[in-house]
Amino acid sequence: MSLIDTYGRRINYLRLSVTDRCNMRCSYCMPEEGVEKLSHCEMLSYEDLLRISAEAVAAGIEKIRVTGGEPLVRKGIVEFLARLAALPGLKELVLTTNGLLLKEMAQGLKEAGVQRLNVSLDSLKPETFAAITRGGELQRVLDGLDEAERVGFPPHKINVVVMRGVNDDEILDFAALTLKRPYAVRFIEYMPTSGDADWRDLTVPGAEIRERIARVYTIEESTNSERSGPSKNFQIQGAPGSLGIITAMTGHFCDGCNRLRVTASGVAKGCLFSGAGVDLKPVLATGDDELLGKEIRRIVAAKPGRHEVTDEGVETKPFAMSRVGG
Ligand code: SAM
Repeated sequence: MSLIDTYGRRINYLRLSVTDRCNMRCSYCMPEEGVEKLSHCEMLSYEDLLRISAEAVAAGIEKIRVTGGEPLVRKGIVEFLARLAALPGLKELVLTTNGLLLKEMAQGLKEAGVQRLNVSLDSLKPETFAAITRGGELQRVLDGLDEAERVGFPPHKINVVVMRGVNDDEILDFAALTLKRPYAVRFIEYMPTSGDADWRDLTVPGAEIRERIARVYTIEESTNSERSGPSKNFQIQGAPGSLGIITAMTGHFCDGCNRLRVTASGVAKGCLFSGAGVDLKPVLATGDDELLGKEIRRIVAAKPGRHEVTDEGVETKPFAMSRVGG
C-alpha cells in the first residue's frame, strides 16, 4: 500500500506528538509562562495513538517520529514505544527529544526498539543554552548523548535552530563538533511560529550558514538517503560526522514533503502551517478502524501543495510547536 497525495507525493512519514508538555521553555517554541496545557481527556490515550499509527502504517506510512512537547515526560512512554515498534510494516521508529532525561532513559528506549534519536541542542555554551531554554542544563543533555551512544544508538542527529544574535556565533563550533564526534548536526532555519513580526531578523538563511562554514573548512557533498528528509547534507573533509541544513524558510521543501502530522490531541495535519487540521477524535470514538484508515487517506489527499508562510503579505497565526509536535 502507498499513500500518494494529489500532487503525486508519496507520504510515508508520520510525526506523532504524544504530549504537549515539556520540561523546557525554549524561547523560539513557547512563551515563558508556557502554553495552556491539554487536559487529560483532550490528550489521546496510548491506545488511540496506537490505533492511528497502525492504520497509518497499513495505509503506507513507513517511518514514525515520536515527538512532542517532550515525549520523554509522558508516563509510560517506553512501553508505548515498544508497542509502536512492534507494528507490522513499520520500517523506522525514531524519537525527537531535548535530551534532558536521556541519561536515565536511553537504555529503555534502545530496548523498546527506538532506532535513532534526534536531539535538540541549540548551544554548546552553558549560559546561552540556559538562556535559550530558559533554565536548561547543558551538561545533562551532553551526558544523555554520551549515555545513548554507550547503549548502542547510532550516531545522533543534533538539531540546532539558528537564530541571529542568539546562537549564530556557534555555527563553526557545531561544525567543529563533527570533526570530533560522528554526529549528524543539522542547522534549522528559525521559523515564525510565535507570530513574531521580526522573524526575518532572527532567521539566518541556510545559504549563509553554509557559506560561513565553507569559508573555514573544505566541505564536500554527502548524498541524502531515501528517508533522510529535507536536510541538505554535506561534510567537512575527513570528518566522522556530517552537517545538514534545513531551509524551512528560504527554500521550502514542500515539493518533496512526505509528512503527515498527528498532534497529541488527535488532530491530523498535512502541513505544519495549515490551520485547523482534522480532528480524529470523533472517528476514534466510533471504534471503526476501517473508517479511521479512510480518514487518514482523505487527509493525505487534501494535503496542501506548499506552505505560504514566506509569501509576501501572508501572516502566520502564532502557534506553539510544543502543541503541534515539532
Ligand atoms: N522536545 C523535543 C525536542 O526538543 O526536540 C521535541 C519537540 S520540539 C518542538 C521539536 C523540534 O522543533 C526541535 O528540534 C525544535 O528545534 C523545533 N522547533 C520548535 N520551534 C521552532 C521554530 N520556531 N523554528 C524552527 N524550529 C523549531
